[in-house]
Amino acid sequence: MSSNVKMEKIVSLCKRRGFIFPSSEIYGGLNSCWDYGPMGVELKHNVKNAWWKAIVQERDDVVGIDTSIMMHPSIWKASGHIDSFTDPLVECKSCHLRWRAGEINNERCPQCGGELTEPHMFNLMFKTFMGPIEEETDTIYLRPETAQGMFVDFENVLTTSRKKLPLGIAQIGKSFRNEITPGNFIFRTREFEQMELEYFVKPGTDEHWLDYWVKERFNWYIKLGIREENLRLRQHSKEELAHYAKGCYDIEYLFPMGWSELEGIANRSDYDLTQHAKYSGKDLRYYDGESKERYIPYIIEPSGGVDRSVLALLIDAYREEIVEGETRVVLRLQPSLTPMKAAILPLSKNERLTPLAKKVYAQLCPSFMTCYDDSQSIGRRYRRQDEIGTPFCITIDFESLEDNQVTIRERDSLAQIRVPIEELEKTLAAKLSGEPFEATPLWATRQK
Ligand code: ATP
Repeated sequence: MSSNVKMEKIVSLCKRRGFIFPSSEIYGGLNSCWDYGPMGVELKHNVKNAWWKAIVQERDDVVGIDTSIMMHPSIWKASGHIDSFTDPLVECKSCHLRWRAGEINNERCPQCGGELTEPHMFNLMFKTFMGPIEEETDTIYLRPETAQGMFVDFENVLTTSRKKLPLGIAQIGKSFRNEITPGNFIFRTREFEQMELEYFVKPGTDEHWLDYWVKERFNWYIKLGIREENLRLRQHSKEELAHYAKGCYDIEYLFPMGWSELEGIANRSDYDLTQHAKYSGKDLRYYDGESKERYIPYIIEPSGGVDRSVLALLIDAYREEIVEGETRVVLRLQPSLTPMKAAILPLSKNERLTPLAKKVYAQLCPSFMTCYDDSQSIGRRYRRQDEIGTPFCITIDFESLEDNQVTIRERDSLAQIRVPIEELEKTLAAKLSGEPFEATPLWATRQK
């Protein structure tokens, strides 16, 4: 089973409208690397801000940090990444393509049917050297997850924030994995961004908090506007659990290639702090003032991908609709997520309209991400805004010069209302936060 939207349509829209481009494209691109363009960077910021607001800003029990990508190499020894962050790799003896052994069904190369080599383990961490001498002792790694930053900073955060358990530490940042088979656009890449929360709890309360976070995170995606029928929870079987995990759920989305992971929520037990205490020689036990005990906290980890969320949101919001006999593509994203909140569209480039249109633009842009567009016909400009999901288009016409009013057109209903310019900012703010858009339908007030 897969969603109705084809991935090519999303890739094409992203390119056409400046959401996401292939990285280094003028040099032929770099496999699995993508750049976020002017629209994509706004959408991505909005997703990250929504996560930060729900996880850090609105909660008293979570604080945020931003740790470095390069970390002490012993961290990866302690965490188990050097020994076991591996995938079994096989290579085709004829065409030399490489595959993850788990992806192969019939022991032949999926590309050419050739014979495959025996699997060998391949470490997914990117290695580099710190300093001018390339010696084994100077080897460091690009982090393959942001989580270790929260574990090794636990004590510093606990002391400086003066908080008690349960305590969450949250971080958004880049991670790197030398994936054998990246693909499906931004779904699996070698450089990506994660939104991770490490929630430290008293042992014995861990199962309660795992349930709690599974529900919280599932509902977060629904609140962002993803349709519930395209989301599901999948519990990991005992055999599938990572070596450190006591329990784990994936939140999956129905991507065009089928149900795939958006976020994992794991009960990591006391593994992480136990390992770091052992390798660093520091006592990382928590002193519980209430029970007067010292213990290593358990950790519940909701770990989501920024890029996978962006992809799921784009797919879920993508619609092709017939309006007056023509197909329009529209991104029905929630206004809090759209790159632009409003577009200023003077009816034409007429020199009498431009000054007023520019004035309205200057008035709105300190409060909302707003764009200005006066090229091509008004119809084409509406289509462009629909494709990037702009919830409101504001047209300035010759009547505006007389009555100081402008027309607001709503993206989904295509309904229009006319408002005085001095009311515009207030009206937009209200509509953007969900006030109903009661208006005459498009055909009744349509611009000639
Ligand atoms: P997968 O099974 O898809 O490889 P994973 O189980 O290895 O994912 P985690 O280690 O749990 O992933 O990472 C947490 C989240 O980080 C994932 O749910 C996903 O959203 C994101 N993520 C992981 N690897 C990648 C990648 N290569 N590209 C983009 N996002 C990723």
